[in-house]
Order: sequence, then C-alpha cells, then structure tokens
Amino acid sequence: MTITYNMLEVQVDLSRIVDNYRFIRSKAAKLMPVIKADAYGHGLLPVARALVTAGADAFCVGSVTEAVTLRREGTLDSGVRVVSLLGPVDQEDYVEAVANDVTLLVGRLEQLERLQTAAAGAGRMARLALKFDTGMSRLGFSETDVPRIIQILAASPNLRLELVTSHLATADEDSSVDYVQTQAKRFCAITGRLSAAGLRFKANLANSAGILGFPELHFDLQRPGIALYGSNPFLGTSREELGRPLKQAMSVTTRILDVHDLPRGGTISYGRTYTASRDMRVAIMAAGYADGYSRGLSNGGQVCLKGSRASILGRVCMQLTAVDITGREDVRPGDTVHLLGGHGEGHISAEELAGWWGTISYEVFCILGLNRRVYLEG
Ligand SMILES: *Cc1c(COP(=O)(O)O)cnc(C)c1O
Repeated sequence: MTITYNMLEVQVDLSRIVDNYRFIRSKAAKLMPVIKADAYGHGLLPVARALVTAGADAFCVGSVTEAVTLRREGTLDSGVRVVSLLGPVDQEDYVEAVANDVTLLVGRLEQLERLQTAAAGAGRMARLALKFDTGMSRLGFSETDVPRIIQILAASPNLRLELVTSHLATADEDSSVDYVQTQAKRFCAITGRLSAAGLRFKANLANSAGILGFPELHFDLQRPGIALYGSNPFLGTSREELGRPLKQAMSVTTRILDVHDLPRGGTISYGRTYTASRDMRVAIMAAGYADGYSRGLSNGGQVCLKGSRASILGRVCMQLTAVDITGREDVRPGDTVHLLGGHGEGHISAEELAGWWGTISYEVFCILGLNRRVYLEG
C-alpha cells in the first residue's frame, strides 16, 4: 500500500540506517535486522540492500509475501536468512516459503504438521522457527506445548529447526524491568527443555530496547527494529543515554500552496476551532490526513519551515493544513516545509511528532512512509 498522486516526499538517508546498524552491532554482534512493514516505512528492498552491504546476513520481515519478495527481488545470497515473523496462513504461504527458503515463525501445532506435509510434497527441507508466548499473549506456543513439539519434530524429517523465539512486552519501560525478567525466565525454561531433548537452534529474544538495555538477554541472535531507523527506544526514561548515538533516517516534506493574512477575530478551517487573537499571517500547506498526516495534529502539531518552527492552526483537513507564519516575510507559495526532520533548530524528531499526534515513533514512520520515497546516499 502506498499513497500516490500527492505532494509529500519522504527522504530516506540509508547511510544513517547503516550507521545505526553499526552502532547496534557494536553492542550485540549477531543481528537479524527487522525490516517488516516495508522496513517501518523506509522501504524493504533499499534498506535490505544497504544492510547486506554493511554485512547483514539475516532479516526479519512480516508476512510470507514480504519474505518471498525480499528473497526474490533483494538479490540476496542464498546464505542470507529471511524470517517471516507473522508466519504462514494460507496453503500457498507454506508452499512459497518452502520453495524460497524462507524461515517461518510457527506458533501452533497444526502449523508444524502442515509445514512438514508441504516440505515433504516439495521434496525439500523447511526452515522452522518456533515462536513462544512468554508474556505478550499474542501469538506463540506455551511451555506446556514443549513435549508435543518435541514429538512432532521427531516425526517430521523435512523440518529443520533454526530458531527459537519470543518477544518482550516492556523492554523500553523503566517501570517494568521485573516483567522483562519474568519473560526471560520463561524463555530460558523453554529453551532449556528443548536443548535437553537434543534439539539444536539459535535462541533470540531481544528487540531494540532489549539489545541496548539488557546485554544479559542477547542469547544467540538479536532482532533490532526501531533503533535501526534512528528512534531511541529509551527516550524520556532513565536509560535515555543508551540510545543517544542513533540518528533519524527519515524526513518528510511538502510544499506551501498559499500565504495570506488572517485578521484578528478571523477563524480558520473546518469547525472554526481556531480564532485569531491578533492580526496574523498563515501559510496553507499541501498535507492532510489523506497523506497520513493525522487529524490528531489539529491545533497541536508543528512544522519546520526554513529552519524554524510554525504551529498548526485549526483542523488538519484531507489534503490541506494551515500554519502560523505571523511576522515572517520569508515564506512564499512553492516553498518546501518539513513535516518530519528539517534543518537547524526547527528539526522535528519522530518522537516529538508522535507526541503531538498521540502515538509512538513507530507509527509515524510506518504511516508517513506510505508516501512517495526518495533515497539519499552518503
Ligand atoms: C517488530 C519486532 C521486533 C523489533 O522491535 P523493535 O522494538 O522495533 O526493536 C522484534 N521482534 C519481533 C517479533 C517483532 O515483531
């Protein structure tokens, strides 16, 4: 899904993603970069290619379709591991995953049996990752499934176990360190029982916050996502320092369509939610909720205009938003304005935009990243 025919432009600086990758790798050596959801809106294939050049030899994506696309079009070496975190749904997912050497996260017994059948039918080995629920209560086996899993694997000659996985719910929160330890303990109990049964695999638990904040939970492999894109998972917490070197790779621009006066007492945009308390000047920019620029930013968000901030006035519309340029003679129709990023003091971080928007940096990247992208290199 992409948004087309609009004026927003997403600029992705791949060299920053590579720098972030190198920084994370200096903390934990065996990374499987998470490039699901089109690399958090930064672009699946360009990000994968940049990271392969930087030495990455494994990736986690979302759907099987995304994994197959990466395998086929990413021109990846056959030694590069491609993991589908969402796992198989339809019969075609099993067949395509086996045919394209995709490692499938599996969290239900029935999926193990279907995968064995699909692999045997193709005369190939299927690459398997076992996903355990240790506290997210979303997807995955529970520890009580372990004996049955061991039995099924013993009877499934076409399944090659590669990974054992679980996911942390609270690694980025100061107040929930206990819960991280609870999940880690459950994970260790599970991996211990699987090892004791003679199974060999690479254990992995840590996301970005787990990598930077919990070196003791690195196990064999780690799965960094948000930190690659330059958002500090610990911003605003006592551990903020740990993510300080990360650099935001995405910026988003649009254009000013018009500038005009708004006399004292005048109102602006739908619902008349803003009234000018003095004579003002406004710029109307080509951005709105159809571009993924949330209506939640109405009367609350800011943009970066020629290096300094301008505040949103009134409601964000479908394709238009007004900002305050009172006292600024330098703004003209056609000028470029940054919705994210920008130069000088006015630079807008994803966390700051997320705060006005009422969300997190992850959603800002994923949603704004649906717009037309260009890549800066070096
Ligand atoms: C998205 C995801 C990650 C990456 O998490 P970040 O917080 O972005 O580092 C890791 N593992 C799984 C299973 C995920 O779904």
